[in-house]
Amino acid sequence: MANIAFIGLGNMGGPMAANLVRAGHKVVAFDLAGAARNQAQADGAGIADSSVAAVKGNDVVITMLPAGKHVLSVWNEILPAMTKGALIIDCSTIDVESAVQAHGLAAKHNIASVDAPVSGGTGGAKGATLTFMAGGEAKAFAAAKPVLENMGKKIVHCGGAGAGQAAKICNNMILGISMIAVSEAFTLAEKLGLSHQALFDVASTSSGQCWSLTTYCPVPGPVPTSPANNEYKPGFASALMVKDLTLAQDAAKAAGAATPLGKHAQEIYKAFDAAGHGGVDFSGIIQHVRDLAGK
Ligand code: NAD
Repeated sequence: MANIAFIGLGNMGGPMAANLVRAGHKVVAFDLAGAARNQAQADGAGIADSSVAAVKGNDVVITMLPAGKHVLSVWNEILPAMTKGALIIDCSTIDVESAVQAHGLAAKHNIASVDAPVSGGTGGAKGATLTFMAGGEAKAFAAAKPVLENMGKKIVHCGGAGAGQAAKICNNMILGISMIAVSEAFTLAEKLGLSHQALFDVASTSSGQCWSLTTYCPVPGPVPTSPANNEYKPGFASALMVKDLTLAQDAAKAAGAATPLGKHAQEIYKAFDAAGHGGVDFSGIIQHVRDLAGK
């Protein structure tokens, strides 16, 4: 069992740290928010009074923070205090450029590093069923994998520094676009007098089949577990979809890739968010698509 420091105990990091405790690791945790620290303590983690204090003497450090600027600032603080030969893993969703910079900082301090963003949301974090998309050297990935296995069910090594973040934003760009496509199809079906169930029965077994339809169907009924059956409670909030589509657009611009549908999906989700629906599950975009008809 490892000695692990966990920094960033929010909606995702809190339950992930609790799963590491459950798996038998000795976890020392830190978050700026007192309520998050109290919850981690109740879950069985030791609490440090700063990020630097948390990492001292530990073999593995995990960060789960909002954005690239938080990760770079925390890594800058903690790397000099980490044990030589230790491993640092960032599970936040951040821009590829900051992820590559973070790996560079770790290398300067002779610390092995992995970017390992996740898919699976808060349910996956609680149930230890997350998918981890990892980037970094093979040796660092091999050391990270057994730790990540306590928090997830699928761990994929995507390539070198930043490859985990690249995989995450490419996947979520598909997701954002495909949810709008499925929502447009149901909206058109409604206007044509075709029932939700009829469209679902055909498209779910035809070439229109995709995850946004068969697992996360944006209309209530055909998939009883989808958020559409629960007033579009997240799930995966639309504000986070805006974040990921924006990261994808930034990366596309920097890399010179053409992603016209990704750009349009970003604009559609931004408008939904700006109308006050950032906290609604991203499949709630179907309501916005329906409303576009009147405009
Ligand atoms: P959150 O806002 O609930 O948690 C972030 C935590 O980081 C907060 O508790 C905050 O106090 C803490 N924090 C911020 N700066 C800090 C610092 N300098 N030192 C210590 N703690 C600090 O966010 P979340 O939903 O847990 O998401 C975390 C990351 O995971 C994000 O990058 C997000 O994009 C990604 N993600 C979230 C989901 C989801 O469904 N919530 C799914 C996949 C990926």
